[in-house]
Amino acid sequence: MSMELILADEEATLALGRRLAEVLPDGLVAFLHGDLGAGKTTFARAFLKALGVGERVKSPTYSLVEGYDIGERRAFHLDLYRIADPGELEWLGLDSLSEPGAIVLVEWPERGQGALPPVDLELYFRHDGMGRVVGFQPRSEAGRRLVQALGL
Ligand code: ADP
Ligand code: MG
Repeated sequence: MSMELILADEEATLALGRRLAEVLPDGLVAFLHGDLGAGKTTFARAFLKALGVGERVKSPTYSLVEGYDIGERRAFHLDLYRIADPGELEWLGLDSLSEPGAIVLVEWPERGQGALPPVDLELYFRHDGMGRVVGFQPRSEAGRRLVQALGL
């Protein structure tokens, strides 16, 4: 992975979430990879709060998807860990994920293959001693611009 950041402690993960929210121009589909405990939800919480989500950002571990209205914008946070087959996602009615301008964060995206909108940016979280490392892989023009805006 060419673009990596060391996240020495939880605060660094939170700061990255806030920073991404700051530079986000409009919509985004981001896939959050990494083992259990790698920091995906921590990052997602800080990002969504910084975007302006007023209510508590719950982990979608059991609900699979949580949706938020942020002014005119819609944000979705998915955790597909408990999905056995991408077909199960049909029941969730995920059409709105593909709305222009939607902000979509997906934990365990490999379990939703084929049922998710095209990804702009993939983040790869991993343990590194007591801390974490995150790698960035842009997958669209918007994703490349974001990574640039982050100064990576
Ligand atoms: P995931 O959603 O990937 O399973 P979580 O975001 O729930 O993981 O994080 C698990 C734990 O890791 C939390 O207790 C969180 O405080 C901690 N954590 C997050 N980022 C870091 C970091 N950079 N260094 C150390 N601990 C972290
Ligand atoms: Mg999680």
